[in-house]
Amino acid sequence: MNLYEYEGRLLFKKYGIPVSNSGLASSPKEAKEIAERINPPYVVKAQVLVGGRGRAGGIQFAETPEEVEEATRRILGMTIRGVKVEKVLVAEKVDIEQELYVSFIINRGGRTIDFLVSPLGGINIEEIVKEKAESLLRQEIDPLLGLQEFMMRKAFKHAGLSKQLYGDFKALVSSLYRLFIEYDCELTEINPLALTKDYELVAIDSKIIVDDNSLYRHPDLLELRKERVRFKSDLERKAELYGLSYVELEGYIGILGNGAGLTMATMDLVSYYGGKPANFLDIGGGATKERVEKALSILLENNKVKVVFINILGGITRCDEVAQGIISALEKYGVKPVVVRMMGTREEEGKRILENEGIHVLDSMEEAARIAVELAKG
Ligand code: GDP
Ligand code: MN
Repeated sequence: MNLYEYEGRLLFKKYGIPVSNSGLASSPKEAKEIAERINPPYVVKAQVLVGGRGRAGGIQFAETPEEVEEATRRILGMTIRGVKVEKVLVAEKVDIEQELYVSFIINRGGRTIDFLVSPLGGINIEEIVKEKAESLLRQEIDPLLGLQEFMMRKAFKHAGLSKQLYGDFKALVSSLYRLFIEYDCELTEINPLALTKDYELVAIDSKIIVDDNSLYRHPDLLELRKERVRFKSDLERKAELYGLSYVELEGYIGILGNGAGLTMATMDLVSYYGGKPANFLDIGGGATKERVEKALSILLENNKVKVVFINILGGITRCDEVAQGIISALEKYGVKPVVVRMMGTREEEGKRILENEGIHVLDSMEEAARIAVELAKG
């Protein structure tokens, strides 16, 4: 689960990591009311799960509640890297002296947790690496030993902060590490971590990714996920409750894939053959028949979808489970033309199940995409 900035800030507060006062709004009027409760000047921030909001115009400064209202009106109309902005965070603007970068991230290859620090914050990590790799300090934490004092000292020195700040820095990174461990995170990132003119360290942004397999032991996150739905379309809401990654788009070809990469490649192919994807929908790895049924029901219920293109690469995911899910969804939620490309684990069984019901399964992803587009264009 990828947390929104406002959700990350809630966790930061819980762990005593300093953040500015803020509130969440889904309309210009709400934003103005929040501004009236906190102190000027303000920053209005698009709440979307993609980075680089600043550059896309999704972060705007304002002096008065009226300006906050106007900025919110502008930002709520935006689409940032394909994602429609549905809510904004209105925060007190922090007076920044320097921007730093701090994160903890799972290093699968090394079986460690990497502790990254750079005195160059505010730009994204990929750019830091590309433009000034030497500015990034990477230390590998043995998860059994945990974050050690000497690592924090080294990081502090690298960050180049003045000595009197060590206590605050140590408290902040220890808390961030504790959050990382206790919430089963894959990533906790503060970029930028601001040094203010008053010599305080404040988290300006938050990026937190929690391992989905651990969500069952974080009831507060499940609660947050439920609250997200009040900003969504009915189908997006349903998908969220099912724990599916689903994003509605403008087109008419329903897409269902397993794995984000394959699903995006599927969307690209559909576009390549002149069609328009109606959505992104990833059922993830090892999906059960029930999960496939729920996922497909969303596409069958979406009136804009003329044809559904299902692209499955069986690994942990079993093609026969997927096939059964497809059949029962079509029985329960009504029939639409379905084009299936399926390969991998239990492929033969899966194909047999579908072909018994008159659904032909293709091996080539290109051919499947082309046929889906032809069918949709009637
Ligand atoms: P991102 O672009 O999606 O990473 O959004 P961020 O929250 O990291 O903000 C991007 C940039 O906007 C930061 O690096 C800052 O330069 C600026 N910014 C955001 N919030 C504040 C703030 O409270 N005060 C000041 N002075 N600048 C801010
Ligand atoms: Mn940022």
